[in-house]
Amino acid sequence: MKLQEADAKSLLVAQGLPVPEWAVAHTVAEARAAAERYLAAGNDKVVIKAQVLVGGRGKAGGVQLAGSGDEAEQVASAILGMDIKGMTVRKVLVGPAADIVAEFYLAAVLDRAERGILLMGSAEGGVEIETVAETNPEAIIRVHADPNLGLLDFQARELAFAMGLRAHLKDALRIAKGLVTTMRAYDADLVEINPLAIVREAGPDGTPVERLVCLDAKITLDDSALARHPGLEDLRDPDEEAPEDKAAREAGLTFIKLDGTIGCMVNGAGLAMTTMDLVKRAGGEPANFLDIGGGARADKVAAAMALILSDPKVNAILVNIFGGITRGDEVAQGLIEARAQQTRDVPMVVRIVGTNGAEAAVLLEEAHFETAASLDEAAEKAVAASRAAGAAA
Ligand code: GDP
Ligand code: MN
Repeated sequence: MKLQEADAKSLLVAQGLPVPEWAVAHTVAEARAAAERYLAAGNDKVVIKAQVLVGGRGKAGGVQLAGSGDEAEQVASAILGMDIKGMTVRKVLVGPAADIVAEFYLAAVLDRAERGILLMGSAEGGVEIETVAETNPEAIIRVHADPNLGLLDFQARELAFAMGLRAHLKDALRIAKGLVTTMRAYDADLVEINPLAIVREAGPDGTPVERLVCLDAKITLDDSALARHPGLEDLRDPDEEAPEDKAAREAGLTFIKLDGTIGCMVNGAGLAMTTMDLVKRAGGEPANFLDIGGGARADKVAAAMALILSDPKVNAILVNIFGGITRGDEVAQGLIEARAQQTRDVPMVVRIVGTNGAEAAVLLEEAHFETAASLDEAAEKAVAASRAAGAAA
């Protein structure tokens, strides 16, 4: 689950990290009021930022400065409703504009292969880190933190020095360690600050001082760990969830969209993986991972079918069910119902074995479904159907 910048910043603040203040506005009037408050408090400018769950908002015109209430109103009305990479902007963050001296990149990501937390830092902040990784890989510093011990002092120091943050060492150490603390506190997969910025501010006596702050924040939470953090579910943004993810979550299906053309409906995660492997071996590309779960009944099967067909790239479907708790005839009934409702006709190959497999076979035969006895045969037939559909299109 991806968090909006404003929510991600709240979590950082809760962990004691330095983040400039902000307000969230849903309307132009709210944005103007927030901007006027910050301007009246002595800030020369405010920054107005689109709250959408995609990167590169700055480049798309979704991050702009304003120096007056009128200007804030203009900027907010330009950004609200804007389309950024297919996402409609429904709210903006308004805050005092930072006077940026330098931009850095700092992120903590879950590194499954290393069974730890990987910290990545770079003095080349602000730009997309993927570009830095491609064009200038040595500009990215990598340090692994222990998932139990966190980031040790010497590691944080090494990272900060290598990033060129010697002049802000104390803040840099606190922030680097804070990212790991945040990861662990909320079971996050990613905590990314880009830019981590040195900003110039008026000090207590009016003379300028510099400090290090988290100017942007991106957090991705591990969905499987959400049960451990009841409050965090409320941060899910229903407007931003991909429609297929939302439909899957509501139907209780485990669904991951992939790039291929063969829709797969399977029960059990292991069987689903195997099915995908066999599709690949037969020369096809799976369009999704879909586990309908144990004991799935007809309505769930129909929901799964609608989900698969919502992907326009799908031109063949492979159904592979091993009945245990799940009853084969229930699934067959679900397929028959689903086909009656379905909006487009896609060739389907069905293999159902196990509990009530014989009853399923009778139902499928009566309904003229293409069936297969073995999984290999099913995969081959589905791949052939997909090829034929691809050639005809
Ligand atoms: P992203 O493009 O979606 O990653 O959005 P960011 O929040 O990272 O903003 C993009 C860029 O806008 C940053 O790298 C900064 O250069 C600039 N920016 C963001 N906030 C401010 C601000 O408060 N003041 C100034 N001057 N620039 C900002
Ligand atoms: Mn950013």
